[in-house]
Amino acid sequence: MMGKVYLIGAGPGDPELLTLKAVNAIKESDAILYDHLINPETLRYCKDDAELILVGKMKGDRTMPQEEINSLLVKMAGKYPVVSRLKGGDPFIFGRGGEEYEYCLENGFTDVTIIPGITAALGSAASFGMPLTHRDYSSEVTFITGHRKVDDDYSAFDSIDLKKKTYVVYMAVSALAEITAEMMKNPDNRDVPVAIVEKATRHNQRMVRGTVSTITEIVSHENIKAPALMIVGDVINFLKKTESLKNKHNG
Ligand code: SAH
Repeated sequence: MMGKVYLIGAGPGDPELLTLKAVNAIKESDAILYDHLINPETLRYCKDDAELILVGKMKGDRTMPQEEINSLLVKMAGKYPVVSRLKGGDPFIFGRGGEEYEYCLENGFTDVTIIPGITAALGSAASFGMPLTHRDYSSEVTFITGHRKVDDDYSAFDSIDLKKKTYVVYMAVSALAEITAEMMKNPDNRDVPVAIVEKATRHNQRMVRGTVSTITEIVSHENIKAPALMIVGDVINFLKKTESLKNKHNG
């Protein structure tokens, strides 16, 4: 059997943010490998007899190494006509989807379809009404990962110039102190606004706000937990405008 493989982006959590293409692929699948970021409600679209396999990784808990996920995916595609790998957000944004795609091809499984998903940055921005670009605030947006655990090298954040730019930092929370320390090597960055969004698009989503110099303490005080991402830049100030407009009209 040389099964068909779908690499599906399931979006940031709200099942209504699945694409129709994702739902149709889930309906068609004989086996689904999904990770912990997947909202269980997403799986209700699957066939009654689909084999559902959690390959997720939770920090600290047992994690299935990527090599094992790759080989399981290929093994399932050798067993079933249609196999899906369901991933949080978009499979090609910090999702190791590229590695899974390559592994399928290396092993002769060439019928691979990639279905994009709404990445966490876009889900977070929409949920809290923060445009990532705006003509008055930011003309550039960067998606960057804060996960530097292997080499402990945070120099990507060293003295960056945050003026008129938006940075969205995935996996930022555990290394927030290091990341903000690097950003503050440029003293102009100290007062740049920051929002941290936890569990965006889920019913229990939260946002906290501060500045590059204050956010680490706020996050620890509010006990923000993964999955959370960091949005840095002047666009956060846009919220002041929308909040005051809402207050004006809602009294
Ligand atoms: N492929 C995913 C990202 C996987 S990396 C995507 O495109 O969204 C995992 C990181 O994504 C988390 O550490 C967090 O920074 C971010 N993330 C994923 N889902 C999130 C959510 N619902 N709310 C906030 N951040 C989220």
